[in-house]
Amino acid sequence: MDYKQYITVVQDWPKEGIQFKDITTLMDNGPAYKSAVDEIVAYAKEKNAEIVVGPEARGFIVGCPVSYALEIGFAPVRKEGKLPRDVIKVEYGLEYGKDVLTIHKDAIKPGQRVLITDDLLATGGTIEATVKLVEQLGGVVVGCAFLIELSYLNGRDKLNGHDVLTLMKY
Ligand code: IMP
Repeated sequence: MDYKQYITVVQDWPKEGIQFKDITTLMDNGPAYKSAVDEIVAYAKEKNAEIVVGPEARGFIVGCPVSYALEIGFAPVRKEGKLPRDVIKVEYGLEYGKDVLTIHKDAIKPGQRVLITDDLLATGGTIEATVKLVEQLGGVVVGCAFLIELSYLNGRDKLNGHDVLTLMKY
């Protein structure tokens, strides 16, 4: 499917010079959203993923339906102060700023095969931080799946050879 027809490019948002890729118009379209999720489900199956991990908030939009379809768990990665129990944390650089991501200490079992999901791979900072969290807990990252890749930002280079699936490239 040509998913790009469902993405709305918003000029100068959230800052001047950024061409924001809005995925809500893809989610609005039931068959397009299902088809995108189905492709990631097939990828997760091929990789024998045992759990899905995604950063808030759009990593949930992509990852939770994959978990549901495969009847495997989903572990949320969230900004500092949002998860209620013991967490580990990592600081990371964003396309626009700096932040801290956290995950519950007991979210991943050592050796568990983990698929990481998010809506978009830009500089790769968010996913690099998510990979670090998963690996600190002993998880094995078997793949990273995104709807969109901004290939000119070379985010893949931050992923140390981890396998990456993206459904659209800009
Ligand atoms: P990175 O850490 O630089 O790879 O940025 C990726 C993160 O920023 C993802 O969690 C995205 O949700 C968000 N992001 C950056 N640019 C866009 C965009 O154009 N559309 C939607 N999300 C974006």
